[in-house]
Amino acid sequence: MFSEIDSKYAYDGSDLGAVYSKDKTVFKVWAPLAENIVIRLYHTCKDEKPYRNLPMEKGKNGVWAKTVFGNLDGVYYTYLVTNEGVEQETIDIYAKSAGVNGAMGMVIDLEKCNPAGWDSQTYVPLEHYTDACLYELHIRDFSIDPSGNFCYKGRFLAFIEKGLVNAAGDSVGIDHLKELGITHVHLMPAYDYATVDESDVHHPQFNWGYDPQNYNVPEGSYSTNPFDGKSRVAEFKRMVYALHKEGIGVIMDVVYNHTYATADSCFTKTFPCYYYRQWDGKKNLYSNGSGCGNELATERAMVRKYIIDSLVYWMTEYKIDGFRFDLMGLYDNETINEAYRRLHEINPNVIMYGEGWTGGDTPLPWEKRCMKLNARFTPDVAYFSDDFRDTVKGNNFENKQKGYVNGAQGSEDYVKEIMSGRIPHPQLPNLDKYSWTDTPAQTVNYVEAHDNLTLWDKLYYTNSTDSVEKRIKMDKLAAAMVFLAQGIPFIQAGQEFLRSKPFPGGMAFDHNSYKSPDAINSLKWNRKSEYKDVFNYYKGLIALRKAHSAFRMYDKAQIAEDLYYLDNLPQHVVGFILKNDNIFEETVVFLNPNDYPVKLHAFGEYGVYVDGCYAGTEPIRMVCGDYEMDGISAIVLGRKREEIFENDAVTD
Ligand code: CA
Repeated sequence: MFSEIDSKYAYDGSDLGAVYSKDKTVFKVWAPLAENIVIRLYHTCKDEKPYRNLPMEKGKNGVWAKTVFGNLDGVYYTYLVTNEGVEQETIDIYAKSAGVNGAMGMVIDLEKCNPAGWDSQTYVPLEHYTDACLYELHIRDFSIDPSGNFCYKGRFLAFIEKGLVNAAGDSVGIDHLKELGITHVHLMPAYDYATVDESDVHHPQFNWGYDPQNYNVPEGSYSTNPFDGKSRVAEFKRMVYALHKEGIGVIMDVVYNHTYATADSCFTKTFPCYYYRQWDGKKNLYSNGSGCGNELATERAMVRKYIIDSLVYWMTEYKIDGFRFDLMGLYDNETINEAYRRLHEINPNVIMYGEGWTGGDTPLPWEKRCMKLNARFTPDVAYFSDDFRDTVKGNNFENKQKGYVNGAQGSEDYVKEIMSGRIPHPQLPNLDKYSWTDTPAQTVNYVEAHDNLTLWDKLYYTNSTDSVEKRIKMDKLAAAMVFLAQGIPFIQAGQEFLRSKPFPGGMAFDHNSYKSPDAINSLKWNRKSEYKDVFNYYKGLIALRKAHSAFRMYDKAQIAEDLYYLDNLPQHVVGFILKNDNIFEETVVFLNPNDYPVKLHAFGEYGVYVDGCYAGTEPIRMVCGDYEMDGISAIVLGRKREEIFENDAVTD
């Protein structure tokens, strides 16, 4: 139905939207079947009547255009579009900023929104995906709780607040991120979403933001003035700049897979039905592979172009370092591969990853979907490893089901498979059939994300009769697995201080807090001090991973060669040796999920860099010969090259 439209009208110009210059603004809209389009200009986003109505003219490829002379910086605008005899007012799908609640677009001089020094900074370096340590964060959660002592609670600008501490004097906010050592913050939806009323931000409201309204506009409720379209743009940039100054990359969670509205969305009003998939070629039979009422038809020429234009815009205008794709199974692989190609041209350090599944059935053919099991068709994009998550802590959807760290038995082979990055490994031939990638750079290893129970809450359900101390050991073992596994480590904000989302009363926990109140969702900064030992453990694991290349191998051959699983270990214990590290001659890792200590033997003298209590880049003690490993813990032994040289010298 729409392939004809694509072959007849597809447009490849990079000038759609309102292109601003000081003496004129050129408006362009792609709407090949529209009967008429009028631009409406408004002085403020509260005006009910436009101060000018300007008819557009239809040109080649179905692109409507109009040049308006004069300096339009700060002017709000909409389009009055007539389709099939019906006239509807809509925001420009390419709008770069918007008034309150995203109803009107804004013509904006973007350069004026740049903070001082903006042009001199750039993307963070990332040689290989496996060098990243990802940290998923919701902008409001970060700063809304009083324990953080932020001025800009719930706002983009909370990221510029340095020097803040909690009640115990421990750093919070951006200083905390720096102290923890993560490489990239992955921001949950920060584009303009629909369900928080921006006109009433002093009344507490919460949403994760997976309800997109305007893809190229920052969310207004995170700005200090949602009524001024410049505020959200300027403050978003200040946030990115503040993170870049600390060496932290910024990843945007993008949701081009569906929109909040369907019949009333700006896409439908501009070109009815074109942007969404339908079943059986029936115009109004929208498919719902997102579970949210619609899905974008990423495979159509001008939808693909829209998505890629939008990604490129965020990367160039806001210096975004990478992207996380929601329900990536609803994207066709050609779109994702082309997006990577374009983004990588601009920023060779870009990282792209996503959820390799859908939220329902879709007409998109299986082999074209960016599903985890199709990962090999999109070799430059990583996928969340739900296999990793479920193997470590138990099935995500069965509250009481256990995993390796909390009491499941007999999963050692699967543990080996996930620890080597979910790729075929020569020592695990029977598990090859479960591997869905050939490179650890495609595997995002995690045990907790915004969806479902936090790790700490899951451990409460699976091990409610165990002591807090014992559950902390399980948490630490799970964290050790995330950071010592081949692949890309990912944690949710606050996981490093046992994030919890209790319902009032504290005996049940929220597994889907997408619109729950701040009391459930916010980061409670005093927990950092309460569980300082856990925080230090995460911090130490991150530092160790960053310091040693053996934990960050990036191809299959390297892992086949340099990661070797050990046999004849105590029951349930998994152990492996890593070779060819940049510092250690040999690295040995053991995971002991048993709640009792086990006896091990070191063939030579090694430093202990991780045990059940401590993790870091300095050895806690040395072991040689027989030694004991604590119950429910990980241990990392390392032997440095120079130590071997010293020993050799003595022997000679
Ligand atoms: Ca909004």
